[in-house]
This record gives sequence, structure tokens and C-alpha cells, in this order.
Amino acid sequence: MTGVYVHIPYCVKKCAYCDFCSVPRDLTAEQYPDALCREIELSRDRLPYEGPVPSVFFGGGTPTVLPADDLVRILDTVRRTYEVRSDAEITVECNPGTAAYADFVKLRAAGVNRLSLGLQSANDRLLQVVGRIHTYDQFLAAYRAARDAGFENINVDLMHGLPGQTQEDYLDTLQKVCDLGPEHISAYALILEEGTPLFRQVRAGETKLPDEDAVADMEDAGMAFLKQQGYRRYEVSNFAKPGYECRHNLIYWDDIPYLGFGAAAHSSAQGQGEWLRWSNTESIPEYLRKLRRGKLPTAETLHIDRREEMFEVIMLGLRKVKGISRQAFLDRFGTPMEKAFPDAWLNVQSNGWWADDYARYALTEPGMDHLNTALCYFR
Ligand code: SF4
Repeated sequence: MTGVYVHIPYCVKKCAYCDFCSVPRDLTAEQYPDALCREIELSRDRLPYEGPVPSVFFGGGTPTVLPADDLVRILDTVRRTYEVRSDAEITVECNPGTAAYADFVKLRAAGVNRLSLGLQSANDRLLQVVGRIHTYDQFLAAYRAARDAGFENINVDLMHGLPGQTQEDYLDTLQKVCDLGPEHISAYALILEEGTPLFRQVRAGETKLPDEDAVADMEDAGMAFLKQQGYRRYEVSNFAKPGYECRHNLIYWDDIPYLGFGAAAHSSAQGQGEWLRWSNTESIPEYLRKLRRGKLPTAETLHIDRREEMFEVIMLGLRKVKGISRQAFLDRFGTPMEKAFPDAWLNVQSNGWWADDYARYALTEPGMDHLNTALCYFR
């Protein structure tokens, strides 16, 4: 099977902390849907693909800055070109203020069955500080419109560690969101990325972020709260009601092949006996130009050797609470992890970070708190 990711690189305006490939919507957005459809069609005979497709994910940027009709047309092109399973998870990311009830109705009618709404915080002051385009009330309106349009699987994206945010602020946001009852919550710590406006403000002393301990306390309090509310942590930063884990993200963490379409999209698949990762050009004008000439917009291809492939499986798989199936690792690499990485295995063991599970390689909760250290042992 192969997942499909579609990147829409436009937003209304750039958030202060964002280093994703996204630009404020401009004239190129008019040509972009046609180029995407062209890329999808061209890719069919040129890229490694093993069907069927269990998940299609429209991410960004903000996919809903494009008209819903364009998103439906792109989804139809994926369906016409690849064998998308009838029960596939089809997700669209959306920011409040960029889609109305009528858009949600169109998306739902076209088979989109999961919506991922970017909220980040229920505190309007914090939303303004990080340059979000919406208020909490606008989020509520979008959430209710999506429910009214028939969406029964909604994710809400949240962040902690925002400038001036306290634990009380964060728990208040979690309470408000849990009261709405979304099926899935992603709760990421803010990462200060070099080159972003927020990075410059923090460097210049104009903005202060909560210190590391305060962020770790927020994270712990948040996890305990979500557990109490019936959300199960299944990955470092992702929580779901039973049965609502994001199937698309599991494709990444299980290192299953996926094809990415759109500017800056990444792909990962097996081709001619080796694992390949490739990425499209990040330049939107170049992306459009290449497709006008009937060329795929690939910018870089990496050939992943067996050792690196093993490391990637470990790096991605240990993010999940249930870790990696021992049998699947053995089937894929012909050797158990403890033989392939004996020193790393023992280091993790001596810290007491391996969960007591004979069928899986998984970390304990303290082990997951030290995931980066654990992964360094495998390098
Ligand atoms: S909405 Fe998302 S992708 Fe767009 S600028 Fe903000 S963080 Fe970046």
C-alpha cells in the first residue's frame, strides 16, 4: 500500500513561528490546482507505486485557501489515477476563517471524511502574539460548521510553550477543546525555528518564551488532563479517542511508502530494490514551469542504504507508544534490532527505557520523554 500526500503551499498570511513551505496566497494559486493534477497524472507511470491507497492527506500551508471545488477536482484526479480504497481516510487541513459551511458540505460530499483544524490556543491574546489569522470564536464557528456538514472525525491542532503562555492558559485551552469532543488532538511544543519572525523577536529580547521546565510541566499536565478526558496518547504528541488514530500519520511512523504531490512535497518508496526518498522543488514558479513542460518537479533524490533504512524505521517507530513489531522488523531486515544495534540496545536497556513487551520494541513513558537521547544511541 502507498499513502498519498498533497501539499497546498498557500496561507492567508505567515504565522510568526512558521518555517513550513507556505507563502501568502498570490496569483500562482490560480495555476496551482491544474499543475497538481498534471503532476499526479504524470507520476502514475514514472514513480514507484504499490497500491492500494489507504489514505489521502491535503496538508499545507492551508489547503482551504483554495476553493473547495479545486480540492475536490484534485481528489478526483488522485482517485482516477491511483486505486484509492473505498474506506480510505481522506483528510483536509483547514484554518478557521478560510472555509465556510458550504465548503465543508462540498468536501464531505466528495468523500473527505476527516478534518484537521488549526487552533493552537483558545486564548485570543496568544493567537495574536504568534500571528494567527483567527480568534477562538472563529475556530468555534468553523468547528460547528464542520460538524453540521457531517464531519464525524475532527482533529484539533494545539501548541504549548507559546510566548507568555502559562500552564493555566494551556489547561484552559485543553478544557475548552475537550468540551467540544473532537476525535483527535495533536499537541505540539512550539519549536523556535531559525529565520522566523518569532526567532528574531526572541533573539532581540522583544518576546520571551516559557523556560524549558515550564514547557515540560505544561506537557506533563496536558498529557494527564487528556488521559483523564478519554484521549489515548498513541504517539509523542498525538492523542485520540479509541479507533481514531490518524491513519495517515501512522503511514509515516510505520515507514510505509507514500507519494507526495505539490511544491516541496516529500515521497518515500522502494524502487529497484532500494529505499528512496525524494522531494519536489520548493519554488512554486519552478514547480509550475516544470509541469507546464510535462516534467516531474523532483528536486532531490536520496538513496537510503540498509543501515540508514533500519535507523529510520527505529527513529519513526519509537515515536509510537506501541513501538515497532519485532516480527515486522525481523521480516524486513532479516535480523532482530538487538543484533543489528547491540550497543544501543543495551544502553536503552540499562536506562530501563524498554517497555516490557515480548512482541514489540517500545519505550516506557520515561523512555519516550528521552526519545532523542535514546535515538542518539542508534547513530
Ligand atoms: S497556518 Fe500553518 S502553514 Fe500557514 S503560516 Fe501558519 S503555521 Fe505556517
